[in-house]
Amino acid sequence: MRKTPFFKKNISFIIILFIFSLVLMSQYIIIFEDFINEKIMFFINEKKSHFKIDENDGFMNQFAFNRLDEIIENLPGRIPILEYHIIETPFVYSNYILTKRITKNKKNERFFISSEEFRRHLEILYENGFRNISLDEYLSLMKGNVKDLKRIPPRSKLFVLTFDDATFGQFDFIEDGTNLIVDPDCAVGIMLDFARKNPDFKLNAAFCIDFENVPFLQSEYVGKKLNLLLDLGFELVNHTKSHKPLAKMLKKTNIIVDYEIGKAMEIFESYLGYRVTSINKICYPNGDDSQLLKDYVKKIKYNGREYNFIAALDAEGPLALNPNEETFDPYAIRRIEINKDSFFTCVINVKTIFKMPALVLKKSDIGKIVKTSLSNSFYLDLIKLP
Ligand SMILES: [Zn+2]
Repeated sequence: MRKTPFFKKNISFIIILFIFSLVLMSQYIIIFEDFINEKIMFFINEKKSHFKIDENDGFMNQFAFNRLDEIIENLPGRIPILEYHIIETPFVYSNYILTKRITKNKKNERFFISSEEFRRHLEILYENGFRNISLDEYLSLMKGNVKDLKRIPPRSKLFVLTFDDATFGQFDFIEDGTNLIVDPDCAVGIMLDFARKNPDFKLNAAFCIDFENVPFLQSEYVGKKLNLLLDLGFELVNHTKSHKPLAKMLKKTNIIVDYEIGKAMEIFESYLGYRVTSINKICYPNGDDSQLLKDYVKKIKYNGREYNFIAALDAEGPLALNPNEETFDPYAIRRIEINKDSFFTCVINVKTIFKMPALVLKKSDIGKIVKTSLSNSFYLDLIKLP
């Protein structure tokens, strides 16, 4: 007769022993949790005196190294990407007859805010410690390249500005005799003025442009405006040729999706020439996306050419994620549709906004923070410096 192996014979006993030891271990961790945290804080405070912050020397950025409570506070922190549509300017209202489609009514009024409101939004953001970063800087942050953002003071809240549909009031020219000036009440005019007064406000908003209507209303100046936006530092995003829901189209055929994105690139190129290569992001019309579409838009082939896109914007949703989030998808970047209410409820008054981490000197001798238990039996590297 074959002997039953020891393991098989005592299987139930081993399982009970295993569960029992798990319970014991968890109790042990709970009992000593405060003690462990105290040890970590002591270690951090002791090490803090070892590094200095010098704005001029080779910096790297480290996620809120200063204090453990800052690290914890930042974990659920979100980054608002603000999405604006129509800015109601006195100039447009007194100089243009608007078609029924773009006249304010009950259905579309959520897309309108006045010049005065937009100006106030910039001021309120600034006064509340918000500093604007570009979409590229946001993507760079999400990849962990926080050093790219060393122009931002630590503890600043971050936000991104975007404008959709190239509607009127975003960028208008006023003819002043033979001179052409930027309407000081349009979004670009307001941002130019704000940047003059606050040099750390950068002209880096993204304009998501489609060609369903004439971009920015004045057909004679489209090329001039698109080029000037790039000159000033703004970004252009491909919002398709005719603003059709791409995910719905893709279910039927990819031909329309290729056309909607590829044709828009050709139109951009007709105005921008080689500068069209700076357009490397998509904005989904009506926020209509799907997993299939997110994969599809990475590479679009149209008219014998290939266009690559590194990211894509959704229309509406919760605040964008922060670099601690593993679920971040660059092809589904969340934005907040801004109106009178959402500006406060979804941006300004939100408790958990991601804050710019502190800067830590590269040559710092801090290698890691070591978490120790009573018996010194386990170690946890929280932060590693090169
Ligand atoms: Zn749109």
